[in-house]
Amino acid sequence: MSVAIIGAGSAGLRAAQRLEELGISYTVFEGSNRIGGRIYPFSYQNGFLQYGAEYVNGVDNEIYNIAKKNGLLSETEIDEDGYETVVNGKEVNDKLYEIWDKFESSTNEKLERDGANKKLSYQNVSQRIDLYFDAFIKAQKFTQSEQTIMENMNVLFKNQFQLEWSSPANDLCLKNFDIWDSGMDVDVEATLNQYGFKSILDELASKVPQNKIKLSSKVVNIDYSGSKVKVLLSNGQSSLFDSVIVTSSLGYLKQNKNTMFTPALPAQKAAAIDRFGFGSNMKVFLEYAQPWWPRRMSTVQISGRVGKVGTAPSLEDDLMVFQPSLWAKNVLVAWVAGNGPKEISKLSDSQLIAVLNNHLTTQLKDVYSVTKIQRIYRHNWISDEFALGSYSYISNKTCQSNTDDIKLMRDPVLINRRPVICFAGEHTDSEMYQTVVGAARSGLQEADRIAKYYSSL
Ligand SMILES: Cc1cc2nc3c(=O)[nH]c(=O)nc-3n(C[C@H](O)[C@H](O)[C@H](O)COP(=O)(O)OP(=O)(O)OC[C@H]3O[C@@H](n4cnc5c(N)ncnc54)[C@H](O)[C@@H]3O)c2cc1C
Repeated sequence: MSVAIIGAGSAGLRAAQRLEELGISYTVFEGSNRIGGRIYPFSYQNGFLQYGAEYVNGVDNEIYNIAKKNGLLSETEIDEDGYETVVNGKEVNDKLYEIWDKFESSTNEKLERDGANKKLSYQNVSQRIDLYFDAFIKAQKFTQSEQTIMENMNVLFKNQFQLEWSSPANDLCLKNFDIWDSGMDVDVEATLNQYGFKSILDELASKVPQNKIKLSSKVVNIDYSGSKVKVLLSNGQSSLFDSVIVTSSLGYLKQNKNTMFTPALPAQKAAAIDRFGFGSNMKVFLEYAQPWWPRRMSTVQISGRVGKVGTAPSLEDDLMVFQPSLWAKNVLVAWVAGNGPKEISKLSDSQLIAVLNNHLTTQLKDVYSVTKIQRIYRHNWISDEFALGSYSYISNKTCQSNTDDIKLMRDPVLINRRPVICFAGEHTDSEMYQTVVGAARSGLQEADRIAKYYSSL
C-alpha cells in the first residue's frame, strides 16, 4: 500500500509523521521549494520573524505541547493597556476612549451571544455592529467632532475582526463565533518567543525523513478513474498510489479544483469549496535604525485621513494597525487586512516603503517623531500560487446555504469503501479551522482514516 500526500505544510507533515510511525509507505509532494506552507519563519537577528502563523490557540493540543516542551512560550505578552489610538491625526482622549471601550466590550459580548442564537447567527459581523453602533450614537449626546471620532473607532473595531478572522467584516458570518472552538471556556492565544514557529516546524519535520519529501513538485492532476490513483506533476512525471491526502489550501482548491481531479470532484464537495470563505491578511515588517515609538506603546491604531482629498478607496485606509515586535526591538509590524494585501502585492518594496513612510509621518506627526523605514520584509500570501490567500472562515454563502461545508470539504472520496482521496488542511477541521492546530489535527485524522481502512481488510 502506498499513499501520496500533497503538501508539506502542517497538515501534510503531521499526516506523514503518522504514516511513518505506522510503517506505511508514502511520498510527500510539495510544490514550493520549502516545507511549512503557511508556517513561514525567516531568520532575523537572533531569532525568526513569522510571515505566517505566529500564535498558538488553545492549550489542549499537540502544537501547544510542542511549544511548551521546547520552551517557546513567550514571557512577554502584548500589553492591552499600551494601545494608542489616533484618528484624523489626533490622539483620542481618555474620556472618549473610555466611552468607546465600554461600547466595544459590551458589543463583543452581544456578538458572541448573537452567534449562538440560531435566528441571528446567519447575519454578518458588519451588519450587526452597525446596528449596535447606531443605537449607541443615538443614546449619546456627542458633538459632531466626537461622533466623527466614534465612527472612526467603529472602522478600527471592524478591522480587528478582519485581521483576526481574515475575512471582510461584511462576509464574516456570526456563526463563526459559535462554531470555532479551542476547547476552552475562554479562548487564549499563546504568544511565542523569538524561535516560535521555526522550532515547531523543525519538530514536525524531524519526524519525517527528508528523502520522502519531494520539493518543487507541483501536483497538477490526481486521476482516480483507474484501480490505482495516478498523481501527475507539472514536470510531466507521474506515479501510482492507493490513496492520496490532499492538503492544498482552500484558496488553491477554489482556483484549481476543476483541473486537479479526474473525474471531477463530487458536486456537493465542489459547491462547498466555492461557498466557504477564504480571506486575506498579512504582515509587513518595518525595520528602523532605532525604535521611534515609546516603550509603553504596544499598538498604534490609525484611522481617518490627513491631507488627502477625495473619497476614492486607497491603500492607506487599510494601514490601520502597527505593533512593535516583542523581541526585535527595531521592528514595527503592520497588520493588514481588507483590500490592503491585494494592493500591497502590486507594489515594489520601494513603492510600499514610500507609502508607509508617508502614511506614518503624516498621520502621527502630532503624536510621535516618526523616522524613515530602512527596509521591509513581507510575503504576499494573496499572490503566492500555493496559498492564494491566508485562511478560511464561515462566509455568508455558507451560512445561507445552511450546509456543513467543513464536513463536505473533509469527506473523503470513497470507492468501494476505500478512501481514495482524503482531504486535510486547516479548512477541514470543524472547530479549529484557520489554525495550525486544526491543520495538524486534520492531517493526523486522515492518515488514521487510511490506516484504519487498510488494517480492516
Ligand atoms: C498571515 C498569516 C498569519 C497566520 N497566523 C496564524 C497564527 O498566529 N496561528 C495559527 O495557528 N495559524 C495562523 N495562520 C494560519 C496557519 O498558518 C494555517 O492554518 C496553517 O499553517 C495551514 O496549514 P495547512 O497544512 O492546512 O496548509 P498549508 O500550510 O498551506 O500547506 C499546504 C502545502 O501544500 C502545498 N501545495 C498546495 N498545492 C499543491 C500542489 N498542487 N502540489 C504540491 N504542493 C501543493 C503548499 O505549497 C503548502 O506547502 C496564519 C496564516 C497566515 C497566512
